[in-house]
Amino acid sequence: MTYPAARWTLELVRSLSETYCYVTERSILVSVFTLPAPLTATVAGAAHPTRATFDVVNPATGEIFAAAPDASVADVDAAARVAHDAFPSWRSDPAARRVALHAAADALDAARDEIVPILTAEQGKTLAQSAREVGVAAAYLRYYADMELERQLLRDDADAVVQIVHRPLGPAAIIAPWNFPLIIAVAKIAPALSAGNTVVLKPSPYTPLSSLKVGEVLRGVLPPGVFNVLSGGNEAGAALTAHPLIRKISFTGSTATGKAIAAAAAADLKRTTLELGGNDAAIILDDADPAVVATGIFARAFHNTGQVCVAPKRVYVPEKLRAAVVEAFADLARDARIGDGTDPATQYGPLNNRSQRDRVAELVSDAVSQGATLAAGGSVIEGSGFFYQPTILTDISDGVRIVDEEQFGPALPVIGYRDVEDALARANATHFGLGGSVWGTDPERAAAVVERVEAGMTWVNTHSATTFDQPFAGIKWSGIGIENGRWALEGFTEMQVIHQAR
Ligand code: NAD
Repeated sequence: MTYPAARWTLELVRSLSETYCYVTERSILVSVFTLPAPLTATVAGAAHPTRATFDVVNPATGEIFAAAPDASVADVDAAARVAHDAFPSWRSDPAARRVALHAAADALDAARDEIVPILTAEQGKTLAQSAREVGVAAAYLRYYADMELERQLLRDDADAVVQIVHRPLGPAAIIAPWNFPLIIAVAKIAPALSAGNTVVLKPSPYTPLSSLKVGEVLRGVLPPGVFNVLSGGNEAGAALTAHPLIRKISFTGSTATGKAIAAAAAADLKRTTLELGGNDAAIILDDADPAVVATGIFARAFHNTGQVCVAPKRVYVPEKLRAAVVEAFADLARDARIGDGTDPATQYGPLNNRSQRDRVAELVSDAVSQGATLAAGGSVIEGSGFFYQPTILTDISDGVRIVDEEQFGPALPVIGYRDVEDALARANATHFGLGGSVWGTDPERAAAVVERVEAGMTWVNTHSATTFDQPFAGIKWSGIGIENGRWALEGFTEMQVIHQAR
């Protein structure tokens, strides 16, 4: 493994001028950035003070490096009220919305160099991945700026003219997780605002700063009250979803929280879109080239250090190819460069937080205690930060936690199967239904198999490939509602029928 080159002991140094510097143990300056301290919540287009703050930890060092506003129930109420007040004028002027959303995209692009180090410091991903994340967020705003749900003429005859229009819902609560804090939030914010809704965003308490920074950047770009950002814990999220002025909840996160939000929304029949957990299977067919498929699956399973909802989380391989595939995966795992996201040599950063790292470690230990073999990795990387070795497990089957549960980290079980029917039965024996893939040299055969995978998004010879215009949606316990394309706009509207008698 090549950890040592990339795994310098990094230490966070904070000067009086609020400049944050990373230095190596040899005191070589690696990167310097300045946080506009302290970042504040945005309510009604202005900084909104909160009484309390909470600590934000850099996962590459394990050290607290910033404080974020801890929104109270009163702060949540203030944000929901201004979003409600801003709604009538925002919904009534589509042309102004278009201009404002393009301006918001430009503002995000212009602020990219400020946002990128903040995102890497709080999330752990590499600077290149953070830059890409900011770019994708800006592109989402542009994509939705010009999209509209046209008025539809359903009937025009001797009896009646019947039209269908789409109305915005009102203030929307957007609640995001910590793995892609900006892409996930803006994939919701862009269609919400484009359709004429106003927004209150609550990022994860593990990654609040990049969202607070976006709130700050967009002050003065979007009309006051249209886009509000509050950081806080799960209680702030619960207060937001229960608020009577919130009419739509768009949530991405764990299935457990999604169920709690669905229950909270039910009392008021608030509309919900829930993008939840996954446990995607990748099925390798017996005509596959082991080295080729291992490379393709590894790239997607370990991207973002395995913290991707729609990543391969279980690999099913025919017994006759198992040894070759496991060996190819193990080589890739051993060669992976793990380290601080600010080090240009790093390919894979730390887990985002201690409890997630500990969960992955626990699932791997549990598997080993049940007879699984470690083909690569299997240990916490000692030192500061929440690092874990890229891990490949084999001699493992269904019924072991790391196969049955979502690991959300850099550990991949490789499971041998008898025949394709056996593989499909195992792949589908789960409550999850986010994604799935089939890999082989005959694409027609693979496509026929993938159609039988019970998941909202399925791929042949790739996995987790998404585009703005391709629906993003899970089935079963992986979600309700659709993101991307015009489906996301529809999800932020309700249909009205206008039937005009002749
Ligand atoms: P989480 O469910 O713990 O938290 C997500 C967000 O919900 C946070 O902002 C949190 O503060 C908030 N929250 C928690 N309890 C709440 C409550 N009762 N009411 C309102 N808000 C509440 O998820 P996480 O650990 O941040 O993210 C990891 C999970 O997200 C994984 O399961 C992953 O698969 C899933 N995820 C899914 C998708 C998808 O599109 N399907 C994408 C990314 C991540």
